[in-house]
Amino acid sequence: MTERQRSALAYVGLGSNLEAPRDQLERALSALALLPLSECVARSSLYASAPVGPRDQPDFINAVAAIRTRLSPLALLDQLQALEQHHRRVRNRHWGPRTLDLDLLWYDGLARRSPRLTLPHPEMSRRRFVLEPLAEIAPTLTLGGELPLTLAGSLKDQALTRLVE
Ligand code: ADP
Ligand code: MG
Repeated sequence: MTERQRSALAYVGLGSNLEAPRDQLERALSALALLPLSECVARSSLYASAPVGPRDQPDFINAVAAIRTRLSPLALLDQLQALEQHHRRVRNRHWGPRTLDLDLLWYDGLARRSPRLTLPHPEMSRRRFVLEPLAEIAPTLTLGGELPLTLAGSLKDQALTRLVE
């Protein structure tokens, strides 16, 4: 496991629309807090969003977590993908239903592009279900010079509801 000397701040996006999605997300948030060399320093509320892409599937439950970690970006992605597997995620169709999707949204402001890992996550600035939860825990983070809530403001056509816990 690649270990860094200095800790990094990372944001992880969570989504689920199968098999009791709220439970899936709560379990995943608890598991994130237990990742090696890492601690979960903040989490957003849960949100409900209409699916992106194919509409013939249940709504998604989404959240964003902030992780302080000494894992490298790829080591953190490995851990996230192992967690997805643990939740028996089935990759059947692109943008299709899933028990758990974990996206590495942002890692210490790093910019990189490869098929295995692109940072910041290339879709995050176009997804209201990422930007509004992110704004709760990182209101002053800038993405291409814009605040999450500013970017979310032009995406009101994407249905999103904050769930009261
Ligand atoms: P999506 O989240 O877009 O529906 P998947 O979760 O199936 O798609 O991810 C597909 C691939 O995207 C994974 O194999 C992963 O290696 C790659 N990937 C590239 N950048 C990232 C990122 N920032 N976070 C998560 N996965 C990423
Ligand atoms: Mg993903």
